Amino acid sequence: MATKTKGQIGVTTENIFPVIKQFLYSDHEIFLRELVANAVDATQKMKALAESGDYKEELGELKVRLELDEKKKVLKVIDNGIGMTAEEVDKYINQIAFSSAGEFLEKYKDQIGSIIGHFGLGFYSAFMVSKKVTIESLSWKEGAKGVKWSCDGSPEFTMEEMDKKERGTVITLYLDDDSKEYAEKSRIEGLLQKYCKFMPVPIVFGKEQEWKDGKYVDTDKDKVINSVEPLWTKAPADLKEEDYLGFYRNLYPMNEEPLFYIHLNVDYPFNLTGILYFPKLKDRVAVERNKISLYCNQMFVTDHVDNIVPDFMTLLHGVIDSPDIPLNVSRSYLQSDANVKKISTYITKKVADRLEGIFKDERAQLEAKWDNLKLFIEYGMLSDEKFCERALKFALLKNTDGKYFSFDEYKTAVESAQTDKDKKLVYLYATDVEKQYAFIEAAKQKGYDVLLMDCELDSHYVNLLEQKLSDTRFARVDSDAVENLIQKEERTKTEMKEDERYDLENMFKAVLPAGKDYFVTGDNLGAEAAPILITQNEFMRRYREMSALGGGMNFYGSMPESYNITVNMDNPLVAKVLDAKAAEVAPQGELPPEAASDASDAEKEEARKAREEVRKAHRADVEAFASGNEILHQIVDLALLANGMLTGKALSDFIARSQKVVTDAYLK
Ligand code: ADP
Repeated sequence: MATKTKGQIGVTTENIFPVIKQFLYSDHEIFLRELVANAVDATQKMKALAESGDYKEELGELKVRLELDEKKKVLKVIDNGIGMTAEEVDKYINQIAFSSAGEFLEKYKDQIGSIIGHFGLGFYSAFMVSKKVTIESLSWKEGAKGVKWSCDGSPEFTMEEMDKKERGTVITLYLDDDSKEYAEKSRIEGLLQKYCKFMPVPIVFGKEQEWKDGKYVDTDKDKVINSVEPLWTKAPADLKEEDYLGFYRNLYPMNEEPLFYIHLNVDYPFNLTGILYFPKLKDRVAVERNKISLYCNQMFVTDHVDNIVPDFMTLLHGVIDSPDIPLNVSRSYLQSDANVKKISTYITKKVADRLEGIFKDERAQLEAKWDNLKLFIEYGMLSDEKFCERALKFALLKNTDGKYFSFDEYKTAVESAQTDKDKKLVYLYATDVEKQYAFIEAAKQKGYDVLLMDCELDSHYVNLLEQKLSDTRFARVDSDAVENLIQKEERTKTEMKEDERYDLENMFKAVLPAGKDYFVTGDNLGAEAAPILITQNEFMRRYREMSALGGGMNFYGSMPESYNITVNMDNPLVAKVLDAKAAEVAPQGELPPEAASDASDAEKEEARKAREEVRKAHRADVEAFASGNEILHQIVDLALLANGMLTGKALSDFIARSQKVVTDAYLK
C-alpha cells in the first residue's frame, strides 16, 4: 500500500456520527474507557506473545500513556502493544467496527435509551467527542510497515503508509467544540480514576509532582494512575485483615470501617472475583445504595449492580469482577440472563456462608457488631426466601439486658416460662427500653425475658418470624397486662353486666385525651397492681407501623390510634371511684318499651328516640361525675404518664392537681 487509499465505511446510515452522538449523549465519557481498554488489550496480547515465545525481540516496559494538549484540544492514547498492519486496520476498523456499530444501531434503535450505558462500542465511541480521529500503528510482526488511518466523522476515511518507529498504536482525538471538557487535565484525571483505577497495565498520565519553592512542580517521573494488581486479584491466603481494611479505605475514603468482608473467588461455572464489605448500617434512610462497583477484567463497568445482585445485597460495599456478566444488553434482559442468575445465587450463598462462619468461629465479634449488621440481615431475610432460611441459623436476637441469642438458644432459654396454655411459645419484646420500662420490669418480675426490637424493619420482621418459627407468637410487652400476655390457664374474670361496662367506658372516656379510640374493660389484676393499664393491641399496632413503613395495608394506617384501657377492679382506688359513682349518679332506670313489631315506622322511630334520650341523660350524668372526680383524673393521668402519653395542658393540670394532693397529704 504505497499510495494513499480512500474508502467508504460500510454503514447503511448516511452519516452515522450525529446519530450516535445524539443517542449516547449522556454516556460520552465512556469513550476514554473504551480506548484505554483497547490499548490495554493490545499490550496484554503482546505480553502473551512474548510468553508463548512467538515474539523474541525486546518487549520493553508495557504500558499505556495518555497525552493531552489542552490548548490544541488534542488527546492521544498511546500503547506499545501488538499494533495493527494496514490489513488489520482495514479488517478491524473499517469493516468490523463500523459495520457492527451500524448493525448495533439498526438492531437497537428503538430501545437504545434503555440499553445499559456500558456496552462496548469500542473504538467507534471516539467519534462521540471528536471531529477527527487518527490511528497510527506499527504491528509487532516482522517487516511490518507503519500505517496511518484518518477519519473526520463523515463515512469516509483515508489510509496511508507512514514511518513509525515504535511498536504499538497511537490514537489521536481532535476534540469536538462541544466536547471541550475533555481537553481539561482534571476531567481526564477524574475519568481515569473512575474507569481505569484497577486496569491491569500501568496507565500513565502526566508526571508525579513535588513541592518545591512554595508550589507543586512536575518531576520527571511518570505518574501511574492505576494499581495493576488490585486486592481482589490476589490469593486470599496471602492477604491479611489490614490489607482488606486498607483497600476499603482506598475505595471509600470517607466511610467508617466496615464490619466484615468476604473475598469472592470462583472460576467455575462462571468466572467471578471480588471483595464485598458489610458496612455499618444504622438506618435505611441513611443508606446510600449502589456502592458495589462492577468490573470486567479490572475495567470499571458500573456502580449500578441492582440488576445483578438481590436488592438487599446492594447495601453491601466493594467490588465484583466478572467477564461473564453481559454488558451490551438492556437492564431488564440482564435479570433474566442465566449467568447473571447463577452469579446472583452464588453471591447470596457466599454471603450466607461467610455469616454462618462468623457465627460459628467469631461469635464475640458477631455480637459486638450485631447492632450495625442487623438491618442488612433483617432486610435480607425479609426480601430473600433462601437467605432467610440460611439466616435463621446465624441471626441473633438481643434482649433488653443486652444479651444475644441464636434462635435455637433463645427458644431453649424461654420455653419453660413462656409457653402459654395453647402450647404456643410467646416471645415478648420491647421497642424502647426507656418508654416501656414499667412493662419490661413487670414482665421480668414474672420471670419472663424481653427481647429488644428497635430496628425500623422490626414490625415486618416480627411478622416474618411468626411465619418462620413454628408455634411462636410475638407480643410487645406493653400490649396487655402482664397476666394476659402469656396466659397460662383460663382466667376467670368477674363478669360485668353490659350497663356497668358501659358506664365504666363512658366514665374513662370522659377523662382520657380526645381523638383516639379506647376500648375499656374491667379485669382482676390484684389489689397491688396499678388501677389502670393502657395498652395497645399487638396486631392493630403492628399493622399501623407496617403501613407507615410502606407495607401496603393502608386501611389500618388511616384508622385512629386505638388503646385498650384495662381497669383493675381489684384496686382499692378503682373501688373508691366506683363507690362514689354509685352514690352520686342515679341508676339509668328502666328504658321506655320498644315499639311493637307491627308498629308504623314513625312509631318505631319515636320509641327508639325515647330510649336514646334516657341513655343520653344517664351518660351525661356519668360524664359529669367523671369530670369532677379527682381520683379518676389522677389515676388516668398516672397511667398516661407511665406510657409517655401525658403532654401539654393535661400534663400541667396533672402537675397542679398533684401539687395540691401532696400539699393536702403533708401539710394538712
Ligand atoms: P472491540 O474492542 O470490542 O473488539 P473495537 O472497535 O474497540 O472493538 O476494536 C476493534 C478491533 O480493533 C479490536 O478487536 C482490535 O483488534 C483492534 N484494535 C483497536 N484498538 C487497538 C489498539 N490500540 N491496538 C491494537 N489493536 C487495536
